[in-house]
Amino acid sequence: MSAIVFTGRVCDAEAQAWIAALSAALPDMPVVPLSAADPQAVEVAVVANPDPALLQALPRLKWVHSVWAGVERLVAELPVDLPIVRLVDPELSRVMGEAVLAWTLYLQRGMPAYARQQAARQWHQRPYRAPSAVTVGVLGLGYMGLTAVARLRAAGFRVLGWSRTSKPADFEVFTGMDGLQSLMSQSDIVVNLLPSTPDTRRILNAETLGWLPPGAGLINFGRGAALDITALLQALDHTLSHAVLDVFESEPLEAASPLWCHPQVTVLPHISAPTNVHTAAQVVADNLRRWRMTGELPLTVNRTRGY
Ligand code: NAP
Repeated sequence: MSAIVFTGRVCDAEAQAWIAALSAALPDMPVVPLSAADPQAVEVAVVANPDPALLQALPRLKWVHSVWAGVERLVAELPVDLPIVRLVDPELSRVMGEAVLAWTLYLQRGMPAYARQQAARQWHQRPYRAPSAVTVGVLGLGYMGLTAVARLRAAGFRVLGWSRTSKPADFEVFTGMDGLQSLMSQSDIVVNLLPSTPDTRRILNAETLGWLPPGAGLINFGRGAALDITALLQALDHTLSHAVLDVFESEPLEAASPLWCHPQVTVLPHISAPTNVHTAAQVVADNLRRWRMTGELPLTVNRTRGY
């Protein structure tokens, strides 16, 4: 049986952590770094931001399993006929749902304004807004989006959703640009959980941000490419009250970015849903074991759609 290889442009400690967790979850299969494997024998690679040239040098490679949920770089860099499986880990979705709820509550309770008041030594009690009076629009109703919707609804928020295809749901779901306009124009807080694809690039731009009602808030936990930063900065001067940003087109966010010290922006270092190496390794191990036993690939990324 050929070894399972791990490869990625990550630091040595992170690579070692993945190999240790995968080895623990797959006691019956050897897991080694790509550098220690026979390139002629590798059929599957577990990857974290891999060097595409290293994968192309594996003549028998059948598929790759990403340990991350977002796969836009793999989609852009790997040959179209190489199947990509991305991480779908219920623990990752749970953590994202927790983050969405936490930062939605941050905006609903007016914490950015109270922080500014404290800095100015101002004692001023703002009106309380109950969650039931706050509409949250969630863009993307996949594993992350639907978990976030469940957490928000359980906390009492009114929730609207937007996805590429319509789906049966017990909350209002919109599709298409008309649907996006309906959602944005009704949302006090918009949460982006869309994957990064050609269709979602700059989906949050001057026009779509202009649909938001005055005082609305924005949470971007999907990908930085979805948001036009110039349009965001203009919207913060007019409609938007605050933006919580966890993802940026270039990470780490460059020191010169005006976002760092903008009083209406919270910058987070891509931490809304960090991968849990242990639960993720278990998910990857289950997929690998099933494939070895049945020859069936888990659900793969649709290379035309880009997610
Ligand atoms: P997913 O299960 O593939 O769901 C994607 C959702 O987006 C689906 O509902 C899909 O619609 C919708 N969508 C895609 N393209 C669209 C378009 N053009 N217009 C409207 N809706 C569109 O993905 P996921 O697991 O929920 O993850 C979503 C993203 O979260 C990832 O791609 C990643 O970028 C990001 N993420 C961020 C972090 C972090 O720490 N910040 C962590 C994990 C993931 P359909 O339902 O119709 O297919």
